[in-house]
Amino acid sequence: MFCPKCGQQNLENNFRCTRCGFVLHDPAQPQYVVTDDNTLAG
Ligand SMILES: [Zn+2]
Repeated sequence: MFCPKCGQQNLENNFRCTRCGFVLHDPAQPQYVVTDDNTLAG
């Protein structure tokens, strides 16, 4: 993929641009796990 900032070509799995350090991918968002224990009751 190409860096939108400087145009440097980077690998798809590159987190940051190898040329300018621009963040190509947003950091992983925190996952909120909801546990519904009440639904287990039968
Ligand atoms: Zn760049």
